[in-house]
Amino acid sequence: MQPKTNIVHLPVYQPGKPVEDVKRELGLSEVIKMASNENPYGFSESAKAAVIEELSYTNIYPDGASVELTAKLADKLGVQTNQIIFGSGSSEVILMAARAFLAPGDETIMADETFAQYKHNAEIENARIIEVPLKNGKHDLPAMLAKVTSRTKIVWICNPNNPTGTIVSHEELTAFLNAVPSHVLVVLDEAYGEYVKDAAYSDGVRMLPSYRNLLVLRTFSKIFGLASLRIGYGIGHPDVVRFINQVREPFNTTRAAQAAARASLSDDAFVARCSDENHKGIQYLTAQFDRLGLSYFEAHGNFVMVDAKRPSSEVFAAMLRRGVIVRANWTYYPTYIRVSVGTPEQNEAFIEALEQVLQEVTV
Ligand SMILES: *Cc1c(COP(=O)(O)O)cnc(C)c1O
Repeated sequence: MQPKTNIVHLPVYQPGKPVEDVKRELGLSEVIKMASNENPYGFSESAKAAVIEELSYTNIYPDGASVELTAKLADKLGVQTNQIIFGSGSSEVILMAARAFLAPGDETIMADETFAQYKHNAEIENARIIEVPLKNGKHDLPAMLAKVTSRTKIVWICNPNNPTGTIVSHEELTAFLNAVPSHVLVVLDEAYGEYVKDAAYSDGVRMLPSYRNLLVLRTFSKIFGLASLRIGYGIGHPDVVRFINQVREPFNTTRAAQAAARASLSDDAFVARCSDENHKGIQYLTAQFDRLGLSYFEAHGNFVMVDAKRPSSEVFAAMLRRGVIVRANWTYYPTYIRVSVGTPEQNEAFIEALEQVLQEVTV
């Protein structure tokens, strides 16, 4: 047996280390995971009630087209229902967009570093991947534009960018969208959009009427706290959404996920509270980094990428021994770690551990 040659070298995805594994391996009783940008405040109570209620219908297939949820979300976003597509997390919308648009040899452009799933799915489709280095941790949109050719099918923009947390402004994005040829699909991933408080940020959904080649991605995994239920979505022109729908699996989101997402959309107070608490967390963490003389990228999501000025694999291991899981090992940023914003107690525990680690791991 031989699989497709273009997938032979692909690594299996390495998720953030689970808390239970770390406890067992290191014999620790207290472990905090600040590695996967999960919501430390949980999720809406109404989502929990909705899931419990929905469990009674477990033997019945879900609504494949997510009709009720689509109607509710379309209303909330001010778009038509045929502009929305749901996926098993927005990761699946990334997969479906790649599947629908990328043929072998097609070109696709993305930043380096950015969310790994763009490249991963493009490789599976055997597309030609063009990576454009970040500039000071930010997408270099003019440099990405310069790489566009007649063979370019998708440009991926992660805003805020994971892992650096930086944003491109409304102005920068508009200039890019005005200049990019209409045959190019621009996928704008706003997984952390609900956290952004900077007035320069663009709401991709409001740009949709001007650009029919724009697809905006959002998720219920981050600020809504539904990561384990797997539900996210894309919003775009009805033609783009139809193409993606054509490659969608029939029942790609579950009853529980749809019900939880519907309930979550009615709980604006939960989202507002998480956004405010996150903002305070960012301010606390960055003030502590300033005190410790560590530089970091301007953080607009629910995580901060900070330069520990030491090999990040060593910092990662030393933090782990103190029961704090962070993310490390970035190709372009060998001394940086990414920490998800936690509760105030978790943030303090992280800083306390980091201070010890900075003493222990020599420069
Ligand atoms: C977390 C994340 C997603 C989506 O996660 P799902 O759980 O699949 O919805 C998408 N893009 C980025 C940049 C992310 O960090």
